[in-house]
Amino acid sequence: MHQKPDADAMGSALGLGHFLKKMGHEVTVISPTNWAAWLNWMPGCSEVINFEKFTEKAVEVLNNTQILFCLDFNIFHRTKNMASVLASLNCVKALIDHHEQPDAPSFDFGISETAKSSTCEMVYDFVVEAGMENSLDLTIAQCLYAGVVTDTGSFRFSSTKASVHLMVARLMATGLNHAQIHSNLFDNFLENRLRFIGHVLSNRLEFFYEVNTALIVITKQDLLKYEVKTGETEGLVNYPLSVQGIKFAGLVIDRDEERKWSFRSKGDFDCNTFARKYFNGGGHYNASGGNSKDLIPETVAKFKEAIHENETILQ
Ligand code: 5GP
Ligand code: MN
Repeated sequence: MHQKPDADAMGSALGLGHFLKKMGHEVTVISPTNWAAWLNWMPGCSEVINFEKFTEKAVEVLNNTQILFCLDFNIFHRTKNMASVLASLNCVKALIDHHEQPDAPSFDFGISETAKSSTCEMVYDFVVEAGMENSLDLTIAQCLYAGVVTDTGSFRFSSTKASVHLMVARLMATGLNHAQIHSNLFDNFLENRLRFIGHVLSNRLEFFYEVNTALIVITKQDLLKYEVKTGETEGLVNYPLSVQGIKFAGLVIDRDEERKWSFRSKGDFDCNTFARKYFNGGGHYNASGGNSKDLIPETVAKFKEAIHENETILQ
């Protein structure tokens, strides 16, 4: 899975892991970094190895691996410090992912379907197309549902095709309690996060109505003051899109090693191309991310320049 995994990355890796174990395989799930505490309820999460924290153990597992499945990312550098280890492995490398422009030469086999709602949906397809639909159980369903519900914005994004609802119906047949899972994912924060959102929306959000764009800039002091942890900024970038006419939103967080960008759009503005062109990133058409080594004032200036460069598409 990619670094700082979200529910789709963690859910697809654990869901596939549970399935492969059921098939008699020995499976280890590795995350390149730590993850949000609100993912800890997922079955199997406590056995996931954090590569950054337990590097030696993870490298040993990787060196003895026969088949490596890469889920919810399509280029090794999305695994941060794990990238060079992955590149050096001689095992079979398989990709299951839905992001734009996969780095195909890095993989021996793979499915890259950018129209898919989530990597979890693709793992579901993998199980069904392997003729193993009957092996779907509650544990697998809980992991896969988590990824599909988050990556579709609770089934509201246009990627929510009929196939998604058919899949969910099938998952529910395992006894899945969907309301509980939604609550585990979205009602599982502490007061600090709500106060932080209030602060950000009041003081850190700027609109550029001439290009139908909004920008959120989060400083290091904000993160410290509100004790913001991994995963607690997720979803923030979507808020400005609820304003009439706003088509595009950028959010930048001042992290120690880099300035981390998130981009979201509605309709016909291509976030993947924007992230690739200006911020060394990528992702999907309506949701992408990137990063910059520039400091906040410079990277923000670059964003403002870039949106005005794109004004004909954004207006
Ligand atoms: P988020 O804003 O939630 O971090 O990321 C939005 C989407 O863009 C996710 O699908 C994520 O995997 C992808 N993404 C985020 N950051 C990067 C990046 O730096 N490079 C690439 N290629 N994709 C990214
Ligand atoms: Mn995903």
